[in-house]
Amino acid sequence: MSPKRNRSRLEEILHRLEQEYPDRSSMLVYENPFQLTAAVALSAQTTDAAVNRATVELFRRWPDALSLSQAEPVEVEDVIHSLGFFRQKAKNLIGASRLIMENFDGEIPRDMEHLTSLPGIGRKSANVIRAHLWNLPGIIVDTHFGRVCRRLGLTESKDPTKLEREISALLPEEDHIVFSMTANRHGRKYCKSRKPECPDCPLEDICPKYGVA
Ligand code: SF4
Repeated sequence: MSPKRNRSRLEEILHRLEQEYPDRSSMLVYENPFQLTAAVALSAQTTDAAVNRATVELFRRWPDALSLSQAEPVEVEDVIHSLGFFRQKAKNLIGASRLIMENFDGEIPRDMEHLTSLPGIGRKSANVIRAHLWNLPGIIVDTHFGRVCRRLGLTESKDPTKLEREISALLPEEDHIVFSMTANRHGRKYCKSRKPECPDCPLEDICPKYGVA
């Protein structure tokens, strides 16, 4: 499909998704920028609900980068052990907290390069953090987003970097966040991995994979 045709289809898709998902706030619970950063780092390979359960105690004991930078790894591991890869995640959290204190005066950096220098924060996580904290544009490529884009025929790519570039080129910057968040929700609600609910999907008449995904 030509880029121009793809662009106009995407406008229609975005319009419908915006109506379907008016609430685009973070599903992670946090009280300050550091806590969002930590929660996003913990959310790899697990659910937001599981992260929220674990961070109640985590943030009660270590609410900011300063306190977590001084934490004992074994104590952090104990608090987040219900999450997968908890040893690595504890190490990342403490390492990121130290870097935030040493290199960024205790503040979460906005710059993509600086954010992704923190252990446990890749490009996807950095885009989530930048979007929620500062409304900075960026395409947030996760498994739900990629699946929805491919089924809708907006890309064929499975490579996150390429996918991010391709969708960025189709959308004006001011729509990056809203499309990222609504497509993610769409992947969770209707366009599920194993059994998409095509008959109920608000995009059913414009989706090339209706019923065959
Ligand atoms: S019609 Fe089916 S495959 Fe297409 S976006 Fe909707 S749920 Fe996904």
